[in-house]
Amino acid sequence: MPAKRMILASPRGFCAGVRHAVEMMDTVLRCCPPPIYCLRELVHNRQVVKGLEQRGVRFVADIHDVPGGACVMFSAHGVSPDIRQIARQRRLRVFDATCPFVTRLHTAVRSYVRQGCHVLLIGNRQHDEVSGVQGEAPDQVTVIGKLEEAAAVPVPDPKRVAAVTQTTLNLSDTQHVLDVLRQRFPELRTTPRSDICFATHHRQQSAREIARLADMVLVLGSSNSSNTNRLVEVCRKEGTPAELIARQSDIERIDIGSILTMGLTAGASTPDPFVGKIIARLQKEGFKEVVEHVTVEENVHFPLPRSLRLLQEKK
Ligand code: SF4
Repeated sequence: MPAKRMILASPRGFCAGVRHAVEMMDTVLRCCPPPIYCLRELVHNRQVVKGLEQRGVRFVADIHDVPGGACVMFSAHGVSPDIRQIARQRRLRVFDATCPFVTRLHTAVRSYVRQGCHVLLIGNRQHDEVSGVQGEAPDQVTVIGKLEEAAAVPVPDPKRVAAVTQTTLNLSDTQHVLDVLRQRFPELRTTPRSDICFATHHRQQSAREIARLADMVLVLGSSNSSNTNRLVEVCRKEGTPAELIARQSDIERIDIGSILTMGLTAGASTPDPFVGKIIARLQKEGFKEVVEHVTVEENVHFPLPRSLRLLQEKK
C-alpha cells in the first residue's frame, strides 16, 4: 500500500490579533479580582471560549448584563461606539482586545463619514466585527453581503461613496464585489491597502497551495469563525474536497480511507493543542509522514497595552 502523508499549511492557527486577545485575557485573569466579564466570544473558537469559562470568565451577549463597575473585556472583533459609551456610563473597567486591524477599519469608516460619503461595508451582517463597524454611523453605512447586493444597493449620492471590507473575507470574492461597485460608482473611495488583514491573506494563500498538492484538506476551527469558513471555500475552489473540523469526533464522519495526501490547515482562532490532537489522530490513521508547507513566515506581534503591563509589574 502506498505511503500516506500529511501536508501542514504554514502559517495556520492563531494570528497576531487572536494571540494578543488571549494574552490580554490571560493577564487580566492573573492580575484582576474575579469575576471577569467578556462581551461576546473573545475569539470565535469553542475550545478557547470553553477554556476561559473554566477559568471563571463570564461571557455575556449584552453590555447591560455586566454589573456596574465590573471588569469587562471587549473581544478581538471590536465594538460600536454605543457600547463604549454605555461602558463609560456604567463605570465599567474596560480592557479592549480589539485587533488593531479592526480598529483601522473603524478609523477608515469614521474618516469617510466625515468626508460626507456613504460607506458600503462588504461583509457578513451577523458577524460581531461588522455590527461593530456599522455602529460607527448606522445611517451612513450599508452592509453588502453578496455580489447581487453590490449591483443593486441604493446610495444617496453616487459621487460620494466609499467601500470597506470585513477583515476576514475571501480575497478574490471581495475583489469581484469591488469591481461591481467600481463600475457603478467610478469615484468609489477605498483604502489604499486591502482591509483584509495579512493573517487572512497568508492563511488563504497557504491553504490554496496545499489544496493543489493534497487529495483532501481538513480545515480546523469553529463553524462561526469567518476566516475558517473562507479557508474551506478557498480549498474547494481549487477543486479539492475540504472539510471543517470543529471537534475531534468530526473526523469520524469523513471517509479518509482512500486519501493518500491529506492537507491540514487551521483558522486564525484555532489553538495549537487542538491542531496537535488532530495531527496525532491522523498519524494513527496511517498518515505517518508529516511535511510542513511554508508559504510565508509571520512575525507580527502586538504588545500588551500599557495599563496591563503596569498591572503585571505590580503583581
Ligand atoms: S484575523 Fe486578522 S483582523 Fe482578525 S484578529 Fe486576526 S489579525 Fe486581527
